[in-house]
Amino acid sequence: MKDLIIASRNEGKISEIKEILQDSGINILSGRDFQEIKDIAETGDSYFENAFIKAKVFWEYTGITSLGDDSGLEVNILNGKPGIFSARYSGDGATDKSNREKLLNELKGVTYERRDAEFICVLVLYDGREPVVFEGRCKGKIATEERGNKGFGYDSIFIPDGFDLTFAEMETFQKQLISHRGKALDALVQHIKSKNL
Ligand code: IMP
Repeated sequence: MKDLIIASRNEGKISEIKEILQDSGINILSGRDFQEIKDIAETGDSYFENAFIKAKVFWEYTGITSLGDDSGLEVNILNGKPGIFSARYSGDGATDKSNREKLLNELKGVTYERRDAEFICVLVLYDGREPVVFEGRCKGKIATEERGNKGFGYDSIFIPDGFDLTFAEMETFQKQLISHRGKALDALVQHIKSKNL
């Protein structure tokens, strides 16, 4: 594989994926290099469907192998919400900040022991043939307040199991060793190596 497009304009996702693939010899492009492609509506019912929709749009436009990422945060006490709606959790015009605020509000008064959550990342590699899927998960707790200023999205309110730090207090390489996206990317890298792509 000479080129790969990350089918996203999310700077946080793009830099995490680029960091892991930096020594692969693959030229990494992203949605930011194809501004003419309109924002893609996430109309699927699952992480897989949404990741596949994104990869397919970029592959169809460019003919270059594309990688779709769909991810979300599932909170046990909210019956798995926000899940596939994580990016739009606080409604129209949602931002990372407004989403975090909404989640912290929903969990007001919930004790630390009952704030279990899980991040999920599904990656879909698509080159016009059968899509190849990689998944990673990371369990943790939702903090009671924001901490740290690294990372993106819900990072400043997510404390992975076995740590006292939020993802936003970790260096990217440390987050990648345990995160949902880090695990899915490990599987992708193994696939690329084993298939000599
Ligand atoms: P989507 O995959 O573009 O639909 O968005 C997933 C949502 O989950 C967005 O709100 C992201 O900010 C959030 N998200 C996905 N991965 C991470 C992560 O690694 N850290 C923090 N938030 C994330």
